[in-house]
Amino acid sequence: MSYQLKILHVNLTTGEILTETIQEKISKAFLGSRGINAKLLWDNVKPGIDPLGEDNVLIFGAGALSGTPAPCSGRTTVTCKSPATGLYLKTNVGGHWGAELRFAGFDHLVVYGKSPKPVYILIKDSRVEIKDASDLWGKDVRETTETLKSKENIPDLQVACIGPAGENLVKMAAIMCSIYNAAARGGAGAVMGSKNLKAVAVKGSGAIKYARPEEFGKVAVETREAVYNDSGAAGLHRFGTSGSTLPVNEIKAYPTKNFQRGHFEGAEKLSGNYLEDSGLLKRKVGCNGCVISCHRYNEVTAGKYTGSYAGGPEYETLSALGAGCGVDEVEAVLKANELCNILGMDTISVGAVIQWAMECFEKGVISKEEAGMDLSWGNGEAVVQLTRQIAYREGLGAVLAEGVKKAAEKIGQDSWKWAIEVKGLEQSRVETRSSNAYALAFAVNPRGADHLHTECYAEFGLSPEARAVIKEITGDEKYANPYLIEKRAEIVRWHEDCYAATDCLGFCAFSSTALYGVTPERMAKLYSAAFGIDMSEEELMEAGRRIVTLEKCFNVREGATRELDTAPYRLMHEELPERKGEGAILTKDKLDRMLDEYYELHNWDKATSWPKEETLKALGLENVAVELKKMNRLP
Ligand code: SF4
Repeated sequence: MSYQLKILHVNLTTGEILTETIQEKISKAFLGSRGINAKLLWDNVKPGIDPLGEDNVLIFGAGALSGTPAPCSGRTTVTCKSPATGLYLKTNVGGHWGAELRFAGFDHLVVYGKSPKPVYILIKDSRVEIKDASDLWGKDVRETTETLKSKENIPDLQVACIGPAGENLVKMAAIMCSIYNAAARGGAGAVMGSKNLKAVAVKGSGAIKYARPEEFGKVAVETREAVYNDSGAAGLHRFGTSGSTLPVNEIKAYPTKNFQRGHFEGAEKLSGNYLEDSGLLKRKVGCNGCVISCHRYNEVTAGKYTGSYAGGPEYETLSALGAGCGVDEVEAVLKANELCNILGMDTISVGAVIQWAMECFEKGVISKEEAGMDLSWGNGEAVVQLTRQIAYREGLGAVLAEGVKKAAEKIGQDSWKWAIEVKGLEQSRVETRSSNAYALAFAVNPRGADHLHTECYAEFGLSPEARAVIKEITGDEKYANPYLIEKRAEIVRWHEDCYAATDCLGFCAFSSTALYGVTPERMAKLYSAAFGIDMSEEELMEAGRRIVTLEKCFNVREGATRELDTAPYRLMHEELPERKGEGAILTKDKLDRMLDEYYELHNWDKATSWPKEETLKALGLENVAVELKKMNRLP
């Protein structure tokens, strides 16, 4: 007998609450979480709607294996139309919220409409209520979470909520789970705020059902061992992602001062070693079912930021709020990180807009009077102050809260040339002048320039497992070389499919595309045993492709063309000063060659980047083809 996924639909305009069981053929085609979310978004959002209007929907999808002993499978995908880009958005979050939703008997939650006043949704097993949140509005993430736990008298209540940034419709507002885990990128927190939805609190007491428990248990144990024994696992546990700071700085690919440089003199203080040695790191934890536990907490116990306590910091945060702003005062970075956590914001985008403002200051485009503060590189206090201002849309923060693309349009002059974004999303902290598969993956990512859609870490060939993956994709280990153009399309496509399947089942991408224990083969076996729906490795990867293609089509329906698949101006026009030759620049010509190969490989039209009718039909997306044809958006 197969196990079927269940959707909870909540309409905040009408108060209607419905449940629905997903048909087996839809489950098999879209797997779960991100895939089912993408289908729900396509079916429920009309093109051209305002992302912050009541016609947008906010979809939570627990990983299809969340709550099971499959390792690192506790992640959740949140999907909506992005207010940052006006395009497709999926954002992924760890912690325990998704598993709890499954314990309560649901796999997906779709929120429609807009409540006339602040509310929260309470899910206690099959009992679902929309409750008044007037007393929570204005509270930060920590206060909201603690208030809800005591108000509902459930100490282990799992809370996904927004902070003031989400309420203020800040375009980089995040949804925070268990306080310190962020569904960060693309402004999903603002969509939640636009619905007057402060929180979704969940408590479940059920057990996860398996179609073939014995078979599932066997593969789960084998997969746990494979992840645990990967050669990169110990380092990831010890340092978390902050372990990347020094090696990336060493190869002169550490984005510094708004991507003007690739090396930061103060990197040591932003490293995993320093956090450990200085005692700032307090404890390590894992998301639900994780065998790596790369998450950590930090606390500042001396100096002007004493008392700051938060999750992380991740490599991305240290780079965005630290090196990117020329700041080596790690305590200031930790304070800004804490503010992002409790006010509910994406640390990558917050750091990106602040360093852009610092460059505007350096170049005389924003004065001290206009900024209301000294925005010199390295001013940690300014980073802390601006972070708060962005959340509350105060002073210069009101301009930055719209994201770097809109801020550059407003401030004018040449400032767009140093706005490091694609499609309106601030680029995450990968130097894509020095890594061609990442450059291509960032250009075609439907949510903008970001690594959490298609992590191509294997192209660096840093471990035997990574080199084996590259060999499997391309036929030769020699392609584990980030400066090559050849085979980048194949590498990106494989990672797209694998990453989509990873997200759908709730696996952490670290376990499949940075460590390599969660293979497509193991994912297919686990899915088959859990749901009783037989799935081969090829079918699983094809489902990933179907999902990636549907996400692309969402953007096509919104009017996206090839011009949007690009890279930030700076990265295509300015060489990294510390490098000459290899890895110094990503020219437009180089990117165009990779894009041509990528579209060809997918059987998408090279001129428009649109998927062809035959491609959509081959993937079973006939309804999508029909709709795009009516809109004249089939090549
Ligand atoms: S490796 Fe880190 S991010 Fe991934 S599931 Fe484990 S704790 Fe969460």
